[in-house]
This record gives sequence, C-alpha cells and structure tokens, in this order.
Amino acid sequence: MQDEPDETAQESREKEMGAESEKSREVILMEQTLVIIKPDAMNRDLAGRVLSRFEEKGLKIVAMKMELLQPPKLKEHYAHLKEKPFYNEIIKYMSSIPSILVVLEGKQAVEVVRKMTGPTQGRDAPSGTIRGDFSMSNQSNLVHASDSIETAKNEIERFFKKEEIHEYVKMNFEWIYSSEEKLKK
Ligand code: ADP
Repeated sequence: MQDEPDETAQESREKEMGAESEKSREVILMEQTLVIIKPDAMNRDLAGRVLSRFEEKGLKIVAMKMELLQPPKLKEHYAHLKEKPFYNEIIKYMSSIPSILVVLEGKQAVEVVRKMTGPTQGRDAPSGTIRGDFSMSNQSNLVHASDSIETAKNEIERFFKKEEIHEYVKMNFEWIYSSEEKLKK
C-alpha cells in the first residue's frame, strides 16, 4: 500500500479549489494595514467587538498577536508626536497593559480602516465609527490604524516578522468583491 501524501487539510482544500493562482492574484490586488487594539479597549473588554467590526466589513485578518508594547518601540511608532505635551502620557498609556496587534488585508484597506476608526477625538467622531461609538476621549480612543499606504508598510514591518503574516485563501472571498474588483486595483 502506498503512503498518503504529506499535506495538511488546508493544503489539500486549496489544491482542490485551484487556489494557488487565486492566492497570488489576491495578494497583488490587496492592501495591508496595521490595527492596534489599544489598552483602553482591552481594559474595557471591547477587543472582540472592535475586531468583529473589521471582520464583518469583509477585511481579512492576515496576522494577529498580543504584546505588551515596550517604550522604545512605542517612541518610534509615535515619533511624529514627540514635541506634543501629551507624548509621555501616550507612551505610558500604550505600555500599561498588552495590546492586540492585527494586520488586515483588503482592497483600499488603509482608507477603509481609517474611515471605520474615525477621527482622533472620540467625542467628535461620528456615530457608526469605532471611536464615535465607544470613545469619549482624544487619548483613550481604542484603536490605532495606519494613516497611509507608506506608513502601513513601515508599521507592519515594525511590529511583525515576515513569517508572522499569513497568505491564505478564505472561503468568503467570492462573496466580498465583484468579479471586476477581483481583477483590478
Ligand atoms: P490617530 O491615532 O487618530 O492617527 P495621532 O497620530 O495624531 O492620531 O495620535 C496618536 C495617538 O495619540 C491618538 O490616537 C491618541 O491616543 C493620542 N493623542 C492624540 N492627540 C492627543 C491629545 N490631544 N491628548 C492626548 N492624547 C492624544
């Protein structure tokens, strides 16, 4: 009797669907962005609800981990705010308890996620945005979201190793984009 081929269930499913070509096509067309579910969201038990919003929208989670962010990395991340009076306060707040870091993928993911997040000041953020629905503050505003494609690239590299980011085909892909959207930027 011959041995069974050495492949995982996911690999054999992908093979069945001709998923290899699908996978490479998807990667070219999609953007990635970094989201940090911040300590206030963690303290308020809102991490799941925040993450659900992105999943429900149709964004794909391609990396995720929990980390107690350390001041040196946070200082790099918030270098653009170095001269602000609240700079030390953000570093303290962001390093107080672990955060959840997520890389989301989708068409125009950077812009879509920023819109879903809302403006910095939670009190001014429109209802329907994450900050508008859950935040009353300009500091404790639940999420960080990359603000441009270039920033997203740098931020993802800052917080994730290449091997922590997953390329895979999700069963719902067919239902998220039109045929045309699947082919064009
Ligand atoms: P955003 O997160 O909306 O891109 P910024 O990059 O300007 O905004 O600021 C980074 C983070 O610093 C904010 O999300 C918030 O947590 C904190 N922050 C911004 N402005 C203030 C402020 N005036 N006072 C206290 N914290 C602030």
